[in-house]
Amino acid sequence: MPQDADLGDWARIAPLFDQLEKRAPELKTADDLQAWLMDWSELNAALDEESSRRYIAMTCHTDDAGAEKAYLHFVENIEPQLKPRQFTLEQNYTAHPLRRQLPSERFAVFDRDVKNHVELFRPESVSLETEEAKLSQQYQKLTGSLTVNFRGEEKTLVQMGRYLEETDRPLRQEAWELVAKRRLQEADNFDDIFDRQIALRAQISKNASFENYRDYAFRRLGRFDYTPDDCAKFHDAVEKEIVPIARELQAQRRQQLKLDSLRPWDLAVDPLNRPPLKPFAQTGEMVSRTQKIFNRLDTELAGGFQQMQDLKLLDLDNRKGKAPGGYQSTLAESRLPFIFMNAVGLQRDVETILHEAGHAFHALATRAEDLYPYRSAPIEFCEVASMSMELLGNEFIEEFYSTDDARRARRVHLEGVVGVFPWIATVDAFQHWIYTHPGHNREGRRKAWIALMDRFGGDVDWSGFENARANLWHRQLHIFIHPFYYIEYGIAELGALQVWANSKRDKARALNDYKKSLALGGSRPLPELFSTAGCQFEFSARTIQPLAGMLREELAKL
Ligand SMILES: [Zn+2]
Repeated sequence: MPQDADLGDWARIAPLFDQLEKRAPELKTADDLQAWLMDWSELNAALDEESSRRYIAMTCHTDDAGAEKAYLHFVENIEPQLKPRQFTLEQNYTAHPLRRQLPSERFAVFDRDVKNHVELFRPESVSLETEEAKLSQQYQKLTGSLTVNFRGEEKTLVQMGRYLEETDRPLRQEAWELVAKRRLQEADNFDDIFDRQIALRAQISKNASFENYRDYAFRRLGRFDYTPDDCAKFHDAVEKEIVPIARELQAQRRQQLKLDSLRPWDLAVDPLNRPPLKPFAQTGEMVSRTQKIFNRLDTELAGGFQQMQDLKLLDLDNRKGKAPGGYQSTLAESRLPFIFMNAVGLQRDVETILHEAGHAFHALATRAEDLYPYRSAPIEFCEVASMSMELLGNEFIEEFYSTDDARRARRVHLEGVVGVFPWIATVDAFQHWIYTHPGHNREGRRKAWIALMDRFGGDVDWSGFENARANLWHRQLHIFIHPFYYIEYGIAELGALQVWANSKRDKARALNDYKKSLALGGSRPLPELFSTAGCQFEFSARTIQPLAGMLREELAKL
């Protein structure tokens, strides 16, 4: 890369792609091909970092019109031009006669992924994918536009979420019902969008010669190491091993709240009606206490977090002029992580900083890897890095709390872990049903969803709100926008729980394996990333049963 390359100017970027394309047929040896791959890799890393820097600048300063303009310029004028140029280079690579002479072990994953991408491409599907993206945008626009009038004030549905934590039950019910009714008014619109999406997806999979969209999506998502049958085993194991724990927790909650039955608006409030946990007042305190947790956990990881502070790679406090939410982003060419969040002093913030720090440790661990695509792992393993750090960090959460509050914080976290599995199984099983039942009608789809809610939904009394329950999937964005992408979180949580279980037996060894697996980045297939971390890549009852036992035991202690 030239030192002064302006990566916001397509006229300056295009010649770099021209050079790579021109060089491809002139390469004489496997070493030449490797050098060519490294140059392509560096170009991609630089472009990735340019995009990340612009995104970070915009989200940190939403009131800076220049920052927004610079980001949109990249999205609208650079990214669309990149796609076809990248695809040509991918074809140059897969068709290259020297490709088979590359060191096979080293390039196996890269080769598999590029070949997969090239093989799936169908020019006749490009316009269908554009159509699909427009419908996704329609879904987001519709969801984002919904508001309700709550006690004289207009509120977004996200803003309404916090009332479900209020101890005043009639107020919770009022807030919940208002939101449920507002969503139901749009039920037909959600179904319209979805019917059009699944029709497009059926055609896209047919164009690529797949029997159904499920099989196509598995290939498209690079699921080389697990099958639809493995997912079905996950669903069964969650039903058998996890749902009973979720029901026990619900029964406890019902008793603590002194209710005859749990209603949908009783699930987020503290069951003992206590005020929210207050882990810290200032963001600076959050950072120094998190640092102390890492100091106690592992010297190397602690050094990484300290380095992020020294290099100002954290923007954590909530302030005016900042986008909502939290994320970890990697500056791909500098090979450094960045964490963004909006801390306001809640337990949720502690979970977020531990989680995002896990992603940051992953980025730091892969700094020595020169092949850009290998500096990131598949999502099924990225979330092992982050979710493990929530569990391992929680061991020292007394840095934030008194003994009693620490126990409460751990319990809230573990209840969340238990609760997420049944929902993941529901969302995943629903999508398997949808894409293997082509030509189904809305009534059939509704019945399939209700059956899954009966199977995984636990003991919540929905009487009087059956229609809201039957349409609950409308609020799960992934079903509309990222089809089939969801079970990844369940697979990763199983990995994280195994890392945690290992650390209870032998902390030093578990942390060593964890760090070793992070350092592999995406250079090895998923089962090897998991085994290096000391985990099985397997999600049937064989793996889930002992983890469910551990969860039950840990919850009993809290
Ligand atoms: Zn994450």
